Amino acid sequence: MEQNPLTIHLFSAPWPLFNRPSIQLGTLKAYLELKAAPVKVQAHHFYLNVAEALGYPVYQAISEKTWPAESVYAALLFPGMAQKAERLFMRECRKHPSLKKLDFTNLTQKVKSATDSYLDNLPLESPLLAGFSICLCQMTSSLYSIRRLKTRFPHLPIVVGGSNFAGPSARGLLEVFPEVDFVIVGEGELPLVSLAQALCHGDSHASAGSIGGVVSRAQGHFEGSQPPFHQLEDLTDLPMPDYSEYFQTLQGFEPQKRFFPTLLVEASRGCWWRKGESSGNFKGCAFCNLNLQWKGYRFKRPEKVVREANELTSRHQVLSLAFADNILPSGEKGELFRGLQGCGKDFRIFGEIRARTSHSALQAMRKSGLEEVQVGIESLSTSLLSKMNKGTTALDNLQIMRDCEELGIVSVSNLLLRFPASDEKDVEETLRTLEFAMPFRPLRRVFFWLGLGSPIHEDLESFGIRKAFNHPHYGQILPSNLVQRMRLMVQGYRGDHAVQKKLWHPVEKALRVWEKSYERLQEKDKKRPILSYRDGRDFLIITQRRWQEEPAVHRLTGASRAIYLYCTMHRALQDILTQFPRLHEDPVRSFLAMLVGKRLMYRENDRYLSLAVRAPSSPCGNFTGGKEPRGDHCSTS
Ligand code: SF4
Repeated sequence: MEQNPLTIHLFSAPWPLFNRPSIQLGTLKAYLELKAAPVKVQAHHFYLNVAEALGYPVYQAISEKTWPAESVYAALLFPGMAQKAERLFMRECRKHPSLKKLDFTNLTQKVKSATDSYLDNLPLESPLLAGFSICLCQMTSSLYSIRRLKTRFPHLPIVVGGSNFAGPSARGLLEVFPEVDFVIVGEGELPLVSLAQALCHGDSHASAGSIGGVVSRAQGHFEGSQPPFHQLEDLTDLPMPDYSEYFQTLQGFEPQKRFFPTLLVEASRGCWWRKGESSGNFKGCAFCNLNLQWKGYRFKRPEKVVREANELTSRHQVLSLAFADNILPSGEKGELFRGLQGCGKDFRIFGEIRARTSHSALQAMRKSGLEEVQVGIESLSTSLLSKMNKGTTALDNLQIMRDCEELGIVSVSNLLLRFPASDEKDVEETLRTLEFAMPFRPLRRVFFWLGLGSPIHEDLESFGIRKAFNHPHYGQILPSNLVQRMRLMVQGYRGDHAVQKKLWHPVEKALRVWEKSYERLQEKDKKRPILSYRDGRDFLIITQRRWQEEPAVHRLTGASRAIYLYCTMHRALQDILTQFPRLHEDPVRSFLAMLVGKRLMYRENDRYLSLAVRAPSSPCGNFTGGKEPRGDHCSTS
């Protein structure tokens, strides 16, 4: 009689975004089936089942908030903590229009029933190993699922990996959670193949602990330094992600619950910018702990990424793509996006980019279907950006906000408030720059949080932090003995909280005004940029739409027009004077100062940026209906 092949079951528990298959599972499945054959892999993107049971809007709202997401399964995992978890959930959701009305007990019961029914009905035939990929917001949901699974299959080895336990927290998990047998430190491909082969050969769990990148419970001691990563040298070895189970699950839903998912693709791992830039004794952005899972920076050849995007979208008949990269590759971006454009498909693409992405690169990306970006903006103060070691300036940030607006790319980017050691000068500069940013899509307000393993966490003193510890909220969702013995991803700290809160209050107020004015002006005319120009070849008309005021219209002629257009990419005063040698410095300076005063240009040191974006052409030729509002005339002479 033929035996079933041994199977590895890979799980992704709530709360990833429900409309995307897990790239971790998709990539591991494809790689393991290639390298650990004849072992089979079954991927369980079962957050999708939970999302379907809860209703997509509720699931999505919870999945966007770390503490509410962790509270739900905490109440199931540790029933003794349910009341505290509920209090945390309600407190964190008190301002959310729909979550604040939820009955927490009812919510957890729905989640429990969907999770249990999935896990209890799994036909786990010939299981070799169960693996859980645990990233942000998936800690308690994964631990709950592991416990449930282990009750059914007490001898099934469980391995855990993913960004949540990538750094110093890996060993702590084995110490406090007896259901977990192995933790993978770093990326999973190579360690999982070796682990699968060892288990197939009947090796003991203790000897499996000698595999690179694997920590085993059977080794019996969890102290000491982290084992070294065991990672792929080249991402070219990775096969295309296999998302088949996600689509099978979706296909099994009632028609009204089906949707068109967004496919995740991966062009790189790590951060190319972090690789090169260092401030003192650390590299990359001071707050960032996104790269604990791997060492160095690797990228796939652009043609491979294009081929995968093309094949995956054809296979699953969808056109929305999101890059999973922390940051899109730099030099290879041109080739990559030209290749995507060459596919001849109407893609809709999301990606994360640095603020210094040029207008031409952005334009090429837009042409291939880039519709939404998250730009690493974080601050509108150059002095603060320097403290963050962001490698950018407020001017760079305004430039990319302007360029996104002009190219019709939606920027969903953040303004990070209450960064430790920020001071009055940083706040003043932010408030000043905000006045110039008003025509562009508002930034999302986010408060600084201390990430385990981030450069700040490794050098607390330099940022005025006296002590770091697990965030107090963990005490609301985990028993105290666990909190004491584990090092968890979100850290609390003793520092300048109260000072920062007060300091950033005016910025919070200004952000609310920005959101409101942008929303109101967009309501009136969605298609028309708030600050735009139309070119008349030897003159330029700039229209400045304003909240609660009539639009202001300005006309620039001759050299004034030419200078304004020249500065749509920020320029130094010296470059302007070189470009226009017949103009004298003083009138040019006064002209630029006048435009800065009118908020038509932004100035940082001696560099100038024209803020108005080219107005999209209107089918009727004149968007004001043929009549220009009264305006003023600005000139260099
Ligand atoms: S925040 Fe982005 S750019 Fe900065 S180090 Fe992290 S991944 Fe790199």
